[in-house]
Amino acid sequence: MANERRQLPVVELAFRYILSENQTAVGVALVELDCRCLKMCGVTREGNILAPLTLVLGPSVAPANRPPVCPVCLKDGGVNPRRVVRHALAWSEDPHKSINAHLKRKIGRRIFGSAVDADIA
Ligand SMILES: [Zn+2]
Repeated sequence: MANERRQLPVVELAFRYILSENQTAVGVALVELDCRCLKMCGVTREGNILAPLTLVLGPSVAPANRPPVCPVCLKDGGVNPRRVVRHALAWSEDPHKSINAHLKRKIGRRIFGSAVDADIA
């Protein structure tokens, strides 16, 4: 439980960073993998995904002074939908970026629905 509390501010910071760096991002998609890595990316009003950001919260194999690298993600590219333990969408609180519930559902289906279909195909 201590880990959960420690990683929260990191996620919060990444969330704010993505929204402030991407003017077209109305929300952030978050995927948690079974290796404890988090993949986060900005989502546009059209349901498109912007440059993804990876947070490596598990053990790293990277040498010192290098960005952390997850050994599990390194092996399978970190985009294996079978390893996803949790996914979520968080929306911007900026009134200029606010979208309605219907559009939120549509974007959610587009992002997570297509990821699952691509895996099965
Ligand atoms: Zn990983």
